[in-house]
Amino acid sequence: MKRIIVAVDGYSSCGKSTIAKQLAAYASYRYIDTGAMYRAVGLYALRHNLSTDDSIIAALPDIHIDFAPQSNGTQHTLLNSEDVETQIRTLDAGNRASQVSQIREVRQFLVEQQQAMGKEKGIVMDGRDIGTVVFPDAELKLFLTASPEVRAQRRYKELLEKDGAAPSFEEVLRDVNERDYRDTHRAESPLRQAEDAVVVDNSDMSREEQFEHICRLFNERVSQS
Ligand code: C5P
Repeated sequence: MKRIIVAVDGYSSCGKSTIAKQLAAYASYRYIDTGAMYRAVGLYALRHNLSTDDSIIAALPDIHIDFAPQSNGTQHTLLNSEDVETQIRTLDAGNRASQVSQIREVRQFLVEQQQAMGKEKGIVMDGRDIGTVVFPDAELKLFLTASPEVRAQRRYKELLEKDGAAPSFEEVLRDVNERDYRDTHRAESPLRQAEDAVVVDNSDMSREEQFEHICRLFNERVSQS
C-alpha cells in the first residue's frame, strides 16, 4: 500500500498531537511533533540566556534535536542528547518557543530537518506550517480547531495533572489567546489553513468520534494515491 504524508496543523492545545499520534500508531507511520523542536530551541535560549535574535541564530549550529522512542510507544525529545521531554512542556518553554519561532533562520533550520524526515513518506507531522510550508504537497492535510475556552480548559487540566500547581484558568486562557495572536500574525510562516486542508473542529467531538473521522479521511486518501 502506498505510504503518504499527513500534515496536521492548527491552534495550540487543540489536540493536534493526540490525533497525530493515534493516526501514526494506526497506520504504523512515524510521528513527528514539530512544536517539540521549537520548544527545544526555546529551552536552549532560556537556559543560555539568549535574549536577542542574533544570539539565538549564532547558537543554532550547537543545537541538536532528536527523538528517542520509548518502550511504551511514545517518544521523548532530546536536546543535545539530553532528554528534555518534561522541561519543554512548561508554560515558560512554550512561550519562549512561540517567540523563537518568529525568527526566520530558526524556522529554516528546523524546516530543513523536518523535510528530511519526510523523504521516505509514511509520516504524520504536526505543527503550524506543515501543510503550507514544510509539505505543501502532503496527500492529507488536516486543520484542527476548537474554541479558545475549550482549549484553555484542556491545557489547564493537563498542567494540573502534571504539576499539581498550575496557573489559574484565566492565566491559561490569556496565554492561549496571546499565542493564537502571535501564531497567526507573525511575519514568518504565520499559522493559516492550507486551501486544500480538511478542517476538523473538535470543540464538541469526543476523541473516539474524531479518531474515526480522521481514519476515514486517511483511508480515502491512501486509496486515491
Ligand atoms: O505545538 P506547540 O504548542 O508545542 O508549539 C510550541 C510553539 O512552537 C507554538 O506556540 C508555535 O509558535 C511554535 N511552532 C511553530 N511552528 C510549528 C510548530 C510549533 O511556529 N510547526
